[in-house]
Amino acid sequence: MGTEPADVDPARAADCASCKDLGAHEYSSTRNASADDALPPGFRRLAAIGRGGILRRCPRCNSYFSYRRAYDSDLGGYDEEAWLDRIGSAEARACLLASGDLSADLIEELRRLGVADALQGKLASQMAALQGDDKIARHHAVSSLLAHYLGQGRLAGVDELLAHPSPAVRRDVLYALFACGNHLIDRFGRMLADVDPGVRNYAAWGLRSAAEGGKDVSGEVARLAGVVGGDPDQDVRRQAAAVLAEAAARGVDISRALAPLISALTSSAWSTRSTAAAALGAAAARGCDVRSALPALEACLSDPDDTVRTRAAEALRRAGQEGTAGR
Ligand SMILES: [Zn+2]
Repeated sequence: MGTEPADVDPARAADCASCKDLGAHEYSSTRNASADDALPPGFRRLAAIGRGGILRRCPRCNSYFSYRRAYDSDLGGYDEEAWLDRIGSAEARACLLASGDLSADLIEELRRLGVADALQGKLASQMAALQGDDKIARHHAVSSLLAHYLGQGRLAGVDELLAHPSPAVRRDVLYALFACGNHLIDRFGRMLADVDPGVRNYAAWGLRSAAEGGKDVSGEVARLAGVVGGDPDQDVRRQAAAVLAEAAARGVDISRALAPLISALTSSAWSTRSTAAAALGAAAARGCDVRSALPALEACLSDPDDTVRTRAAEALRRAGQEGTAGR
């Protein structure tokens, strides 16, 4: 740690054209309106540091403020509260060091505050949080680390997280990746081979959400076919069949997955049978030659499950309609 800058002289802050309208403690409370807007105008001239702007700095006199906001909603609308407190640089430094956030602007501010090795220390503490039993801390650490690596374009860092020895961490990473819309399709495809069924399920779930979002999953059809045909976990097989159904509906050629999908029509789980029928129907609708599936689909017309029967009938209808079935 280096030397931290001295606190701003109170006389200078009181004189500052930018922040002099802000007292030692400001508070606002609003109904169906922004609590930020109800703070004195000087608030809007402060620079926000870190995710959510937990720290604010006056760009003119460098005074620091801690900032916090609360939000609650009910049927009639929402309530907001905001707190803004003048703090010294030691408090500002402690506030930034305590945060799990690894944002570049926050690290830069810590450098201003005399902490030269902030990033290294924070990376180490977030990595340590991945090992702990505290689920919430683990989620936060995963999302901070991912935001950091993605922000820097460091996919090697993402891959390290995906290779973490704890399956819970690998699941969290996959979930965080697809929740933020960053699918990295090939990584999800690769994780279909993970030893943990939960991780494989998340990988397939992520691919399905990517396909639903219109992303191109055609490069993963072969791997998905392998999962439908050979994964030991029922849920994972069904999830993979669902990705194929979604991809086929969007025009991806899934003909190399026909054989495992046909086998899946005789699965012991109705949800897998119906998903496989849906995938075959979607493929037929796109003009894929599904003649090899017709006997198995016809057998599904007497399936004990209603959804399976409906989807099989629909698939047969589509196969006939597209003229590829020759029925
Ligand atoms: Zn100021």
